[in-house]
Amino acid sequence: MKKIFKEHPLSGEQLIKTFEDYIPEISLKNKSLAIFTIGPVQSFISAAKKTKEYWAGSYLLSYLIWQALKHIMEESKEGENSIIYPYLKNQPLYKDLRNEEITLPTLPNRFLAILENNEAEQLLEECKKMVENKLLDIAINLFNISKEDKIYKQLEELLEIYWVLLPLEKSKKTEIERYRSLTGMEPANDISHYSLVTSIIEELMGARKNIREFNYIEEKGVKCYICGERTGFEPGIMNIEDEKKICGVCGLKRKFSDYLKTEFGIEIHYPSVIDIATADYKEELVSSLDKDELNQLLNYMDKEFGNQDYQMPELVNGLVGDVKSKSPEEKKVLKIKGTYFDIEGNELKESIKVKKLLKKINKKYNLKLNKYYALLYMDGDDMGKWVSGEKLKHREMTPEFHYLISKSLTNYSLKFVKRIVEGKGRRGKLVYSGGDDVVAFVNLKNLFEVLRELRGYFSGNVFDNQVNYKASDGIIREKGEDILTLGSKASVSMGICIAHYKEPLHFVIKNARAMEKKAKKHIISGNRKKNAFAIGLIKHSGETREAVSKWFYDDGEDIIEKGIKPLLNLIQKEHISQSFIYTLKNEMELLEGLEAGDILDDEIIRLMKRKITVDEDEEKEDSKRKKLQKQTEASLKVLQQIYKNRYWIEDNKEPNNIYNFINLLEIIFFIGKRGE
Ligand SMILES: [Zn+2]
Repeated sequence: MKKIFKEHPLSGEQLIKTFEDYIPEISLKNKSLAIFTIGPVQSFISAAKKTKEYWAGSYLLSYLIWQALKHIMEESKEGENSIIYPYLKNQPLYKDLRNEEITLPTLPNRFLAILENNEAEQLLEECKKMVENKLLDIAINLFNISKEDKIYKQLEELLEIYWVLLPLEKSKKTEIERYRSLTGMEPANDISHYSLVTSIIEELMGARKNIREFNYIEEKGVKCYICGERTGFEPGIMNIEDEKKICGVCGLKRKFSDYLKTEFGIEIHYPSVIDIATADYKEELVSSLDKDELNQLLNYMDKEFGNQDYQMPELVNGLVGDVKSKSPEEKKVLKIKGTYFDIEGNELKESIKVKKLLKKINKKYNLKLNKYYALLYMDGDDMGKWVSGEKLKHREMTPEFHYLISKSLTNYSLKFVKRIVEGKGRRGKLVYSGGDDVVAFVNLKNLFEVLRELRGYFSGNVFDNQVNYKASDGIIREKGEDILTLGSKASVSMGICIAHYKEPLHFVIKNARAMEKKAKKHIISGNRKKNAFAIGLIKHSGETREAVSKWFYDDGEDIIEKGIKPLLNLIQKEHISQSFIYTLKNEMELLEGLEAGDILDDEIIRLMKRKITVDEDEEKEDSKRKKLQKQTEASLKVLQQIYKNRYWIEDNKEPNNIYNFINLLEIIFFIGKRGE
C-alpha cells in the first residue's frame, strides 16, 4: 500500500484510482467554473466581547454559505457533484441537521463549482438571494422586526456577496491571453488548462471585491459598544440584557443561539475563557480532594451564592475528561464556573470563607489556579499553489485533483481537528474548523500537544498514531481506513496568543492573528518561509513576549516534542529554577555581539545545568542530578536550532534571534509555572 503513494502529494493515476469512489465524473463540456464568496469575514467575526459571540459569528457565516450550497445541490443539473470545493459529504450540516455536531462551523466562506453554462448565472443569483434572505429571516425571527426597522436595515447592508463565472471551454491560448492582460505576467510554461482557469477566476474575484459597491450611509447616534462601527440601540428592544447600546448585527450574534434552539432544538453551551483556563485546575481538585472535602467546598459555595448560581448549566464537551465515571459531587465541582476559584477576582471579593477554604486546599495539595488560556489561529501555507498546480508533481492539476484537495481538507477538519482540540483530556474548544483554517481556545496544560498534532496531521506526518515529521506518505491509517491528507509538501503556520482571562477578547483575537502573520513571514536560509508557529504572551501586568519557531529544522527534530515538552516537564516538576532566565539575560548582555556558535551554545547549556535542583533526599544520589542535566542538555540542543537557523522577516529585517530564543524559554517557564 505504502508504495502506491510514493509519489503523493496528490499525484499519479494510482492515487485517483484508490480514492475514485470520492471523485465524481466531471465533464467540462458546456460548463463554467463558478466562485462564490460571502463577506465580511474578519470584521464580522472578531467584533466579540464573549466567546459565544465569537463562535456565533463563525457559525453564522458557515450556516449562510450552507444555504447557497444546498441550493446548488438541489437545483443544479449535476447536483452535489458540481461542487468542487468544499468537499460536502460528511459535513455535519450535510449529514443531519439535528445532530449535535452541527454546532461546529466547518464550512468556509466560499465555494467553487462547475455548472452548466445555461443554468449558472441564474443559480448564482438565486444563491445570493437565499443567503441574504436567510440572514434577514433569522433577524425577523429573533427580534420580531419589520422591514422598516433600523435593525433590519443594518442587517440588509451587512453582507458582501460576490460571484464570478468563467466558461471552461475557451482554448488555452485564449486563457493565456486573458491571464496576461489581467496580471501583466506570463503564466508558467507547464501550467494546466484547469489551473489557468482557476488562477484567472481568482484574479477576477480579487478585482470584483475591489470595486465593491459602497452604500455607506454615515450612521448617527451612539455607536455599538461591541463593533464600534454601527449605531447602537437599546439592548432591551432585542431582548438582550446589557447596559450598553448594541447594533443589530452584534445583537444578532449575541442572540443567535436562541435561533438554533427554536429552529433545531439545540442548546449551545459555549464555555467562557476562564472556564477554559481553569479546566485542568478543576480536574486536579476533583482528583485530590476526598468526598468530605468536595462536599465542604460545595457547601461553602451553596451558602455563599445559593441557587447554584456558581455553576455552569452544563458540562461542556471536551473541557473535562471522562465525565461518566465521576461521582455526583465531582460533577458538581467540575461544573463550578471558573471565576469562583479566582481568589483575587471579583466574584469572591466579599466571600472571605470561600477564599479561605480555597487557599487551604491549594496549599494542602500544592495546587495553583491557571488564569491564562490560549487562542490559536491556524492557516494552511500556500493554499493557492496547490490549486495552481505548483505543489503537484508534473503540474497535472485537473478538477479531479481539485476534488481530492477538497477531500483532504475536509478529512482533516472533520476527522482529526475536533479530536485533537476537544478530545479526551484535551480541554479545548473549537471556534471554527474548516479545511486549512482552525480557530480554537485551548487550556495551557495541553497547548503544545494540540499545536503539534494540528500541524502533523495536516500533512499526514503521522506514523503509528504519532506525529513524526520524518515519516510520511500523506495517508493516515486509522481503524483500517486510509485517510487522505495533502501530504508532506503541505504545511501550516500558526499564531497563538496566551492571555489572562480578563484581557478583552477582541484584543486577544487581534494578537493571535498578528502572531499568525508573524509565523507566515518567518524566513530562514534557503528562502524557506512559513511552516512556523509564533506565540504572543500578554501578561496581566501588561508586559508582552513574542517568539517564533519552525516546527522542525533541517535535522527533522521535532521542536515541540524533543525541545519544549521535556523542558516544560522539568519546570513543572520544579527541577529548574526560573532564575535561569534572569541569569541568561544578564549574561547575554555581557556577551552582546557574540555570534551563535560553540561558545554561546555551550554557555547557555552550562547556565541551565547549573540551575537544576533536586530534592534533598535525592541529593544523595548525584546520579539523579546528572540524569536531569543530561535531559536538559538534550532538549536545549534541539531548541538552540531556533537561533542557530537565523531567521528574518519578509521585508528583510533581521530581529534579534537570541532574544527570540530567550522569549520562547520565558514563555515555556510561564506556562510551566502557571502564570506569574
Ligand atoms: Zn455592533
